[in-house]
Amino acid sequence: MKKYNFYAGPAILPASVMAEAAKAVVEFEGIGLSLLEISHRSKEVVSILDEAQSLVRELLGLSDDFSVLFLTGGASTQFFTVAHNLLNADKKAGYVDTGSWSTKAIKEAKAFGQIDILASSKDKNYSYVPKGYEIPSDLTYLHVTGNNTIFGTQMHDFPETSVPLVCDMSSDIFSRPIDASRFGIIYAGAQKNLGPAGVTLAIVRKDFLEMTQRELPTMLNYNTHVQKNSSFNTPPVFPIYVSMLTLRWLKANGGLAAMAAKNEDKAKLLYDEIDSNPMFAGVAAKEDRSLMNATFVMAEGKEDLAEQFLADCAAAGCIGVKGHRSVGGFRASIYNAMPREGVETLVGLMKNFADK
Ligand SMILES: *Cc1c(COP(=O)(O)O)cnc(C)c1O
Repeated sequence: MKKYNFYAGPAILPASVMAEAAKAVVEFEGIGLSLLEISHRSKEVVSILDEAQSLVRELLGLSDDFSVLFLTGGASTQFFTVAHNLLNADKKAGYVDTGSWSTKAIKEAKAFGQIDILASSKDKNYSYVPKGYEIPSDLTYLHVTGNNTIFGTQMHDFPETSVPLVCDMSSDIFSRPIDASRFGIIYAGAQKNLGPAGVTLAIVRKDFLEMTQRELPTMLNYNTHVQKNSSFNTPPVFPIYVSMLTLRWLKANGGLAAMAAKNEDKAKLLYDEIDSNPMFAGVAAKEDRSLMNATFVMAEGKEDLAEQFLADCAAAGCIGVKGHRSVGGFRASIYNAMPREGVETLVGLMKNFADK
């Protein structure tokens, strides 16, 4: 049976990417060796790294001011690496608290400088994205989370400020075009919208890094990875390769503007059903709804039917629809690689559920 993967992460990847990746595990491009067993200094791997970097640059429209790094440790390691590299006791950064991942980023950063929480939506269980808060101009950076994977909200417009933005884009990177010139650092664990678990993309503006003042452990210093082109130590070759294949797929499918249009169409299909179906109710404020992770619950009074709906989903091959424990209900992750038919199948199940 065809299954549709609605998991939040590790998450769906394009089928063509997985087929190609599987071939490379057995034998990489006719060289008589698997991609898993060749040196990260080999010309094959160097060319994968180069192509991955240049596709990131091309898709996001990055100028030469930026370095594209492939790191390890996940977005969770970036939470402290950002502050470790950029702050010190007299420097401060602003953070917008829009969910569990923002909260973790704040906690980690506090060890390295003054952290001002400029706004938070904790008061309503992170069901909206705060707006209209004051942003002091003396911040070293303003940290935001592009998409709140757990709560199903997304920052559709980044805050207006001259302060460089640092953004955790783990769950919406490459889902829409962005104005890269506004960012000092963008980071993303690959496993939501880019590739398999094991690689973390960091895009850093080189002049922004000149502020690094601390003695940093070599591996935690962004400059190490800038200078050594992400190969100071052994990079996660296979996850980088699969990410590169996804980037090729993105380009072949029209790039980020085309991807954004598809994502908007898929999300509209699902949210229209959530809003019109009497069995279900949305969770996030409408204007802040995520195009990547749609959170919804059973309508009031129908909560005891949730298990039944999840059973229908599983029986129809819609996998991973159960909501995160901090929100409950349901979460359908509809990342770039989710085809429209997947969303149509889920919407069909919701309609049938109301009918019976
Ligand atoms: C999943 C996720 C993380 C955590 O990523 P790891 O790579 O597991 O550390 C951080 N931020 C956001 C927005 C996420 O969705």
